[in-house]
Amino acid sequence: MWQMVSEVRTTLGHQTLPSDVARSTTRTGNRRPHGALARMKRREAAKDLTARILCAAGVPTLARRQMRGRLAILNFHGVETKPLSPPCHYVIDTATLRRELEFVRGHFQVLPLEEALERLRAGTLPDHAAALTFDDGTRNLATHAAPALRDLGLPAAFFLATGPMGTGEALWPDRLWLAFARAKVSEIDLTAIGHGTRSLRSAADRGAACGAAVGHLKELSDGQRMAQVESIVATLGAEFDAYGGPFQMLCWDEARALASEGSVTLHPHTVTHPILSRCPDQKVEYEISESCSTLDRETGHAPAIFAYPNGRRADFDERAKAALRRNGIRWALSTTRGLAHRDSDPLALPRIVIMGNFSHARFKLHVSGTVPSRPLNPWR
Ligand SMILES: [Zn+2]
Repeated sequence: MWQMVSEVRTTLGHQTLPSDVARSTTRTGNRRPHGALARMKRREAAKDLTARILCAAGVPTLARRQMRGRLAILNFHGVETKPLSPPCHYVIDTATLRRELEFVRGHFQVLPLEEALERLRAGTLPDHAAALTFDDGTRNLATHAAPALRDLGLPAAFFLATGPMGTGEALWPDRLWLAFARAKVSEIDLTAIGHGTRSLRSAADRGAACGAAVGHLKELSDGQRMAQVESIVATLGAEFDAYGGPFQMLCWDEARALASEGSVTLHPHTVTHPILSRCPDQKVEYEISESCSTLDRETGHAPAIFAYPNGRRADFDERAKAALRRNGIRWALSTTRGLAHRDSDPLALPRIVIMGNFSHARFKLHVSGTVPSRPLNPWR
């Protein structure tokens, strides 16, 4: 059984994201991306079939028996009524979220995040311990995630990028998604960032082009990244504010109302959601200290837990950890995949990122710790 698991874990461990499509395209062609999309769909179908076979063989149940003393920290982002078009796999639809939360409630002991981290440190975690986190702070967490959590009696930690809260502005990856989704042009020249001319004729084309752009921009210095965002948005010529859309942010009254119910806690996730390792020293300090002090001021509680934007191991460094310590942060969450254990670095704790395009079988394998630890690039 476990030999079979190890063979298929490698396959399941790779998440096919729009940026994967981008990497397999030519610099100038609009033909190969369609082939890449077809290959991506075939890979996704193969992963789903493999996952269903493993679930039928009882692998998630066996894996959860190995979880003693470990903590599964699940990570969601925004929640919408239906999957977005163009595709945006870090946003999950409400029916899928409810199905996944019901599975978690039935198979794990879900704890409030800070209690879970205290008990992880003390070695007093219950068996099958889990905690729920939602990153970024879009308004749909109040309208779509919170009702599901409330109905199921589950606690959750919301990590807020404080800068655009209560405004019509969106975080930079979401701003790009809005611009690609609403552009009136049928193609875009992304030669400046190494991706040639990309078709925008179909929703899939737009999602793939956006994923390619976001994936590339995250590897640039912070200044270059901001300049390229402005350039791409100007080229697309279709920027609107985020009001009423999937990326409108919570305002503080809404966030405080959620926290007042008792099962939702609020935590910092920087001000503008940059890749911290790409930022100059002053900006690293500002993004962390300003978001921490804003949480303190707006909620009356000094924050103790932080989540890194994007969160891959390469996205934060010792400068960020030092700034977190100076601001009283005791735990920081990454998106490196895995289960947290007592010896995990408290300022680089792994999580299990849940994508909106997971089949239920793949979700069960991921949440049970069956998929090997490796960096995941969730766009965010
Ligand atoms: Zn984020």
